[in-house]
Amino acid sequence: MSGEVFSKLITSVNPKIMNSASRYGVKIDRIVIHHNATTNKTVAMNTWVKGGRANTSAHYEVTPTEIIGCVGEQYSAWHCGGSGGSDKPKMANPNQRSIGIENVNSSGAPKWSVDHRTIVNTAKLVADICKRYSIPLDRQHVLGHKEVTSTACPGGINVDEVVQLAKCYYYGGTHDEPGIPGKAGIPAAKPASTGWIKQNGTFTVTTPGGIKLRSGSASTKSPLIAVLKKGSVIKYDAFCYAGGYVWIRQPRSGGKYGYLPTGEASGNKRKNSWGNFK
Ligand SMILES: [Zn+2]
Repeated sequence: MSGEVFSKLITSVNPKIMNSASRYGVKIDRIVIHHNATTNKTVAMNTWVKGGRANTSAHYEVTPTEIIGCVGEQYSAWHCGGSGGSDKPKMANPNQRSIGIENVNSSGAPKWSVDHRTIVNTAKLVADICKRYSIPLDRQHVLGHKEVTSTACPGGINVDEVVQLAKCYYYGGTHDEPGIPGKAGIPAAKPASTGWIKQNGTFTVTTPGGIKLRSGSASTKSPLIAVLKKGSVIKYDAFCYAGGYVWIRQPRSGGKYGYLPTGEASGNKRKNSWGNFK
């Protein structure tokens, strides 16, 4: 089919004609994540070829190094419609409303692992699709196959992780190992008003004057706990963007937290860093 719509992120297009159908005017508002249930991408994609026995297909096949366009986005692929009978999909028009992303496995049963690089590629693709179709980037709109029909798919893929990584790319992060604020291509995150991004790490203060650690909330108006001098090291469990700074959150005794600005931010983009992350 010519004129197929694919993400600009694709590395190639599979030339075979795959199972597909019209979307019948249904708006795209979901992304469904799958695993191949095989470590062989070619075996997986060959089952989607039109006329085959499987009656399945997907829009994309993702591997550690590739994003392969299979069924154009303007068509529905046959990826989450259920197997019929008692297997009723948990949402209306599952195939018509969604884009299906398949991921090759790095190991077989029972773990059905998927390489982290594949997850990163899928996260980039999810961010791109959400942007282009104005789909909210959250767990209500980005689903694992088993959240739609009765299946063990997507195997070892943690869809929460996919969404969290995708947010980094959605908001402008470029680093291939997102989640490390302060490194090149600092990952952005959701706007501060919607909360903290979970991440465990260590921060070492390098700015000569030190940084003020606060209690209560991530604000320069919050009560002062201490000034962390240059060379101080603290552990943190989350970060956020608030008030023009990138803040990290330090778990303290009694379930309380300390809040430390680690550099300036413009919206949800870091401008500089007052220390090193590990
Ligand atoms: Zn699936």
